[in-house]
Amino acid sequence: MLDKVSNETSFVESSPFLKRHLGPSSQDIDQMLKELGHDDLEDFVKAVIPADILEVDPDYEDFLPVGCDEVHALNHIRSIAEKNKVLRSLIGLGYYSTALPACIQRHVFENPAWYTAYTPYQSEIAQGRLEALFNFQTLISELTGLPIANASLLDEATAAAEAMSLSFAACKRNGANRFLVDEQVLPQTLAVLRTRAEPLGVVLDVKKPTSFCYDSDIFGAFLQLPGANGCIWDPETLVEHCHQIGALVTAAIDPLAQVLMRPIGDLGVDIAIGSAQRFGVPMGFGGPHAAFFATNEVFKRQVPGRLVGQSVDADGQPALRLALQTREQHIRRDKATSNICTAQVLLAVIAAFYAVYHGPNGLKNIASRIIKLRALFQQELIKLGYQIDDIARFDTVEIFAENAPDVHKIAVSRGFNLRILPLGADIDQAKGFGVSFDELSTLDELDQLLKVCASALGQEFDGLQNHETLDAAALLFGIPLRQKKWLQQSVFNKFHSETEMLRYIYRLARKDFSLVDGMIPLGSCTMKLNAVAELIPVGWKSFASMHPFAPANQAEGYIHLFADLENWLATLTGFAGVSLQPNAGSQGEFAGLLVIKEWYKSRKEQHRNICLIPSSAHGTNPASCVMAGFKVVPVACDEAGNIDFNDLLSKAETYSLSLAALMVTYPSTHGVFEPQIRDICDLIHKHGGQVYLDGANLNAQVGLCRPGVYGADVCHLNLHKTFCIPHGGGGPGVGPIAVADHLVPFLPGHPLSFCGGQKAIGAVSAAPWGSAGILAISWMYLRMMGFTGLRHASSIALLSANYVAQKLDSSFPVLFRGLNALVAHECILDLRGFKRTTGIDVEDIAKRLMDYGFHAPTVSWPVAGTLMVEPTESESLDELNRFCEAMIAIRAEVALIESGQMDALNNPLKKAPHTLAAVTADIWERPYSRRQAAFPLSSQQETKYWPAVSRINNAYGDRNLICSCPSIEDFVA
Ligand SMILES: *Cc1c(COP(=O)(O)O)cnc(C)c1O
Repeated sequence: MLDKVSNETSFVESSPFLKRHLGPSSQDIDQMLKELGHDDLEDFVKAVIPADILEVDPDYEDFLPVGCDEVHALNHIRSIAEKNKVLRSLIGLGYYSTALPACIQRHVFENPAWYTAYTPYQSEIAQGRLEALFNFQTLISELTGLPIANASLLDEATAAAEAMSLSFAACKRNGANRFLVDEQVLPQTLAVLRTRAEPLGVVLDVKKPTSFCYDSDIFGAFLQLPGANGCIWDPETLVEHCHQIGALVTAAIDPLAQVLMRPIGDLGVDIAIGSAQRFGVPMGFGGPHAAFFATNEVFKRQVPGRLVGQSVDADGQPALRLALQTREQHIRRDKATSNICTAQVLLAVIAAFYAVYHGPNGLKNIASRIIKLRALFQQELIKLGYQIDDIARFDTVEIFAENAPDVHKIAVSRGFNLRILPLGADIDQAKGFGVSFDELSTLDELDQLLKVCASALGQEFDGLQNHETLDAAALLFGIPLRQKKWLQQSVFNKFHSETEMLRYIYRLARKDFSLVDGMIPLGSCTMKLNAVAELIPVGWKSFASMHPFAPANQAEGYIHLFADLENWLATLTGFAGVSLQPNAGSQGEFAGLLVIKEWYKSRKEQHRNICLIPSSAHGTNPASCVMAGFKVVPVACDEAGNIDFNDLLSKAETYSLSLAALMVTYPSTHGVFEPQIRDICDLIHKHGGQVYLDGANLNAQVGLCRPGVYGADVCHLNLHKTFCIPHGGGGPGVGPIAVADHLVPFLPGHPLSFCGGQKAIGAVSAAPWGSAGILAISWMYLRMMGFTGLRHASSIALLSANYVAQKLDSSFPVLFRGLNALVAHECILDLRGFKRTTGIDVEDIAKRLMDYGFHAPTVSWPVAGTLMVEPTESESLDELNRFCEAMIAIRAEVALIESGQMDALNNPLKKAPHTLAAVTADIWERPYSRRQAAFPLSSQQETKYWPAVSRINNAYGDRNLICSCPSIEDFVA
């Protein structure tokens, strides 16, 4: 199979895009093979992958595309996109049209310096996106009046569920397991709350807030403000009732309504959550969008997701980094407060820039205009004879009327989707209609809408009159309004000219290390090429402007795209069905485990509740297990890094009757293909358990071996790792699950859509297909690569990792090896010895790499004190060599300390990274030269990447937590 394609001509036929995607050329590949003692790629792959799982001559090729070039694939996907009909959707329910300012679109959304960066683990080279996220936190904190705001969650519905979990954990009252939920909750939020409540043993009590009873089993309450029907009210009395019984109050808010209203935190609410989508982020048929989560100081250690905090660097300068537990959430395993890993960084960054662009006055104008248009609409409808409840509202009005089906039909014929009431009904059964105004609404549009409503009554609408007198504040009579100045921090007030905005965006981008600067060899993260042709369709209106609850007959393009992608991913993993709903790997884990749980329920085996997890697992695994209501039992690893088979055997026997699943990562997180994987799966099945395979490492397997074939039952894929969705500086992500035949009926459903199996578990994300808006990226990758290209790419990923392992082994011993002493697609370098001999630790080497112009590999995971390197197939041989050269030069610096030639504390490693300011300072009193500090390699003369700050002091920042820009008053004080 492989040598059939290993000559270049046949590749050009079957996968012309491949040579763009791959780093190494054919000659490079030959050279790399030679250094590893192989002369044939296929033989090499046979040496790496256990014979009982490698598919030498796969028979599923016909179910996958034949590769093609960029032009061809773009034409193909355009024909699919054109099947979507984009109407002006005024459905609301958490999704609104918005204007992404062109300068943010071009300089952030379409800028690889922003979208190819990774989660800011190496803070010194991530100050740009950390500042943008700090701005996001500041914005949310100012909006809500709550001091601690995180740097984004996956969507509004899961943020609501995180708030519920926090409230549940925080309430110490025995037996308190009931959560009050406002009946005006968004339907998708309620669905996700239900899904997440059940495994926790939490009971939801959904009713009108005026009918809430404050019994002793209540641990929290959830309000939607404004409600789904648009209503706003003052929650202060309700908050008091809750606090009297020690229950926490969460409010889901609309950030644009909050612009006008008194900060919800000032009204006593403990947690505020919501979606920042309408701050400039396209609807994208449901996502990706950044959700926010804000709370009081009291809960700062329980905040899910990531929190950016200010600290100081070694020179005493302010510097940002991930704060508190959010830096190392994964270390807490089953004690973690949430399973969030990948979040929505790029979308939070866009929302923050949107606020920087508009400033407080611009935002106020947008919000005021919306409320005025809504009020005018309502006023004119009443004149037409429609009956409308007299309540305070923000942007949305719901009208129940007998002629609703006519209103909808006329609206659609004139290019508008209105909200069909009751939700989920067909147009013919409609009893009412709802309209949510947004940033794109105009008087002209209002006029058209009124004509629709008049026409449905058989009347003429004779034009708008008298609209100049409406005042936004008067329209919110009786509602607590924002009185004080807000968002006065200079960042939100000084970049309002495009020139200034342009320079601010680039000033931040320049501080960050992204794929634009060099390889990011982060093990387990698969930082491969994100080709522009893959990304282009994401910005097309036919994908970007679709409302997730638009009628299915308008979304045929999307539905086609989903079907292709589901089929291709099912084929590549050897499974029967796929759900695209989970918004990240962590959510895929949770969804997959719930599917397993539901299957047991259908077989009356609910008692199976034990999940075996190897000690080397990613921290999200045990965290997801606990969320799904399983009990974690760890399994040991042996000296070779493999699952300790005897321990597994004994645990499987001990828990045989209650065994639910094994969660296993393959190739293992230690970067090797465990030869016993089939035996491991068989053993679990023998004891009645299911095998959950964490597919984060699928980049080592695509086209070569398939989890569904060698024994797994469920597997999640990280489309933002293996399938080219860019990491966006820490999100978005997509974490679909693929499942075997018997589990297909249980794939997640959705209250307002038709996705999922016959006996679907509840929704795990707010939108039916999760982050639908970016699925085109993975579709394009698969379409262009085709089967041959994919299989070849996986082989090169294995080759590159082994090449690096071979080059570096004599400087840094490779910790684990598999068959024939080969690694899989990544390798762990053991640095622990240096700590004993020189005091140099893994942190010093990671920081020193910055001076050499590299992003560090994964630090101290899965083994403390080590680096895990994953080069991917997209890095060229030159880049691999440059990296190895840097690592070897660093090893030589360590040697100088070992031999006593260099001081153990005052040396370029301990002092790394070196900033421009440090090496050009008038005073330089170090025992090594400035040149050695900043230009250790001669190749750096031409291009030098400068870290923005010196080594950051983490402990200082945790002791003095600052996670938003000070307000002007605080600043002056
Ligand atoms: C990245 C990763 C995850 C988590 O995926 P997210 O998309 O970040 O939630 C889980 N397991 C492993 C092994 C991973 O590398």
